[in-house]
Amino acid sequence: PSELVKDIKPTVWTEFSTLAAQNQACNLGVGYADSPSPKILVEALKNLPNDSLNHQYTRGFGHAQLVTILAKMYGELYGVKINALDDVMVTIGAYLALYYSILGWVNKGDEVLIMDPAYDCYQPQVKMAGGTPIIIPMNIPKNAKSSSEFYIDFDELESKITNKTKMLILNNPNNPTGKLWSRNELEKLAKIVKKHNLLVIADEVYEFHVYEKEEMIRFASLPEMWQRTISIGSAGKAFSATGWKLGWVIGPKNLLAPLKQLHQNCIHVCATPLQKAVADAFEKDWPNFYSNPQQSFLATGLSGELKKKRDSLAKSLEAANFKPILPQAGYFMLADFSEHLANFEKGKSGEKKMHGILSFRDGFVKRRNWL
Ligand code: PMP
Ligand code: GLN
Repeated sequence: PSELVKDIKPTVWTEFSTLAAQNQACNLGVGYADSPSPKILVEALKNLPNDSLNHQYTRGFGHAQLVTILAKMYGELYGVKINALDDVMVTIGAYLALYYSILGWVNKGDEVLIMDPAYDCYQPQVKMAGGTPIIIPMNIPKNAKSSSEFYIDFDELESKITNKTKMLILNNPNNPTGKLWSRNELEKLAKIVKKHNLLVIADEVYEFHVYEKEEMIRFASLPEMWQRTISIGSAGKAFSATGWKLGWVIGPKNLLAPLKQLHQNCIHVCATPLQKAVADAFEKDWPNFYSNPQQSFLATGLSGELKKKRDSLAKSLEAANFKPILPQAGYFMLADFSEHLANFEKGKSGEKKMHGILSFRDGFVKRRNWL
């Protein structure tokens, strides 16, 4: 094996999916939707005419219709003018968008700030690029009831910045905590980012999964942040159809240029029919997003459906003596299970783990066998 892969360990998903299959257990961690994907998306795919435009290679950096609607949507969401052909690129899921962004910008020895708990692929991807992940812990008071109680110490974050610090990865809403970053917190981050001239990757794949009418503030919408932010989205998450694996990066032309260099030699073109169907679905939904949100899947459809599941899972957990930390957004829920610790075997390291990750995107009472 190459030097690059030699230290890469199996991910939590590989380990847990195998364990769940071996033990016939219900795997709530992976976030596998059990409800049918939205009609607006599935119908769009079903209705694609069988012609070469829809089933052969399309534009390498993204199907023209898809980048056009993405530029319109995010232009309105960020309050900036987005050029569809320069400032948007389509990728295979948000995973590849993250990998391109990191590989395209991180040099050997560069430091990358990651707020932890973090999505698990950030650290390995930074290491694969030769960079060093610098971990900023997210804190939470004992007996916290809401993900809004997670916080970081901004002085601590700033104290970890050196002349090697290149980038900050922000996951908002955060997986796995469900934390939705407040305007006040984001403005503090923006100030630090500007002061130290950092590049930001804003992984905002759960941007349409926000409950309780709280405001989703996209980092690129903050003053002067557009020019230093690569924002990442996912159709799999936006339409709750994770198998589609279609993502995108949005940012100024100069920030996307290195990502495009990678893309043209790795993937060249993403799946045409999926891009066309996602574009059709966005085109149909977007006109209602602001003016008629009750008719918009992105504005209220998905969050309405998931909120019921979130509340029902929290109730069941409480009844079983877990203490759920109610997520403000996203698919996942953390729960304190210290009450049950006495019944758990100690892990190999002897360390007791205080939290488990549960996903309420899954119908949690059903057992599935997809492996
Ligand atoms: N970022 C976060 C925070 C995620 O939770 C996920 C999916 N689990 C991804 C990126 C990757 O998304 P995709 O399936 O579109 O590659
Ligand atoms: N838990 C991830 C999610 O949010 C899935 C990760 C994976 O499949 N690698 O969907």
